[in-house]
Amino acid sequence: MPLPNDASPLTTPAGPARGRRGFLQSACRHCFGLGALGLGLGAAAQTSPESPALTLPGRFPPPALDSDEGGLWALMDREEQRLRRSPFALRDPALTGYLQDLVCRLGGEHCADVRVHVVSNPSFNATMAPNGMMQVWSGLLLRMDNEAQLAAVLGHELGHYLERHSLERLRDTRSRAAVAQFIGLFGVAGMVANLGITASMFAFTRDQESRADRLGMTLMQRAGYDGAQAALVWDNLLGEMRVTGGDDAGSRNPLLATHPAPANRRDELMRLAGGRGGELGASAFEAAIRGHRLEWLLAEVRRGQYEQSLALFNRGLTRSPDDAALRFARGEVYRLREGPGDLESAAADLVRASAAPQAPVQALRALGLLRRRQGDVQAAAAAFEQYLARAPQASDAALIQTYLTQLQP
Ligand SMILES: [Zn+2]
Repeated sequence: MPLPNDASPLTTPAGPARGRRGFLQSACRHCFGLGALGLGLGAAAQTSPESPALTLPGRFPPPALDSDEGGLWALMDREEQRLRRSPFALRDPALTGYLQDLVCRLGGEHCADVRVHVVSNPSFNATMAPNGMMQVWSGLLLRMDNEAQLAAVLGHELGHYLERHSLERLRDTRSRAAVAQFIGLFGVAGMVANLGITASMFAFTRDQESRADRLGMTLMQRAGYDGAQAALVWDNLLGEMRVTGGDDAGSRNPLLATHPAPANRRDELMRLAGGRGGELGASAFEAAIRGHRLEWLLAEVRRGQYEQSLALFNRGLTRSPDDAALRFARGEVYRLREGPGDLESAAADLVRASAAPQAPVQALRALGLLRRRQGDVQAAAAAFEQYLARAPQASDAALIQTYLTQLQP
């Protein structure tokens, strides 16, 4: 099927609807037809929730180019090209390779059809487009405690892919705007727009979610991971969302908007896990993200959702009180929030973080700024001097030198 020559980015929900109307209308006319053909996957994935035994569908042959599904794939392929060129694409072959290997461990032969892209965005999100484009956002990686939790999320997304849930949802959709938003959901440009709202129009059904949960659980346990970690992922995320409260607390998070998380979901995952235990892969995961963790922590602080960030950082510091990067990040939240008692809390964290053997040099800069704000001239000058001694080439070295000069009595 010829596709409209529309290279405009998907910055607004209305954008793609204009350029792709022909295809989209055609796709919807045939929605029922596609559904009636059936893809033969339902039966393969139908399994008792009690049983981890599962026959996966074989690899999907590429759809015929002149079919509606082929048209959809072509659109997704184009979004993927756009993502590859995007400034949000995190180009780290080692990290991408690590994630791709994990997909292979979970998805078996399907791994040949799945391409992982890491996206620099502090929100918790992962998506899997029907053409095999998987996006994993850095905010999700920052929130995983170990490889088993990551396997749970990727396994769940693979579950949607193996059962082709997004195609099902597309076929159910009659609204052209919603179809356009669906496509935007998988485009990197879509995330710049209000993805929470975009995504909520395309929430999977409860049945699709349970099926993806069951499939994800089976895939992760088959690969040897501890299934109980799947429940902890939701537990942790909901704990973070709960601190802000309100009905929209979840919808502002892209993943929660597309993945409604009823209160019993955690319990159901725990039940599915069945107390079998398994691998956590904590050190492998830690090694894989080590090079990016500080930048992701700072991106999380810059998000400006201080209560959520504190919930996340407090959870981490309870487990690892000597984590200097995490302590620095929490100190930054307190320093920037400036609520009652915050500057004192910031000082405690930044002093401890700066003194740690693995202290990020930025902790000294933050400590200097804090002391300057508190009017402690001597302490500010000492921190700035240490910062410049350790990072003489820092991009803000001249600025900090100016502060130092101003601090002279
Ligand atoms: Zn899902």
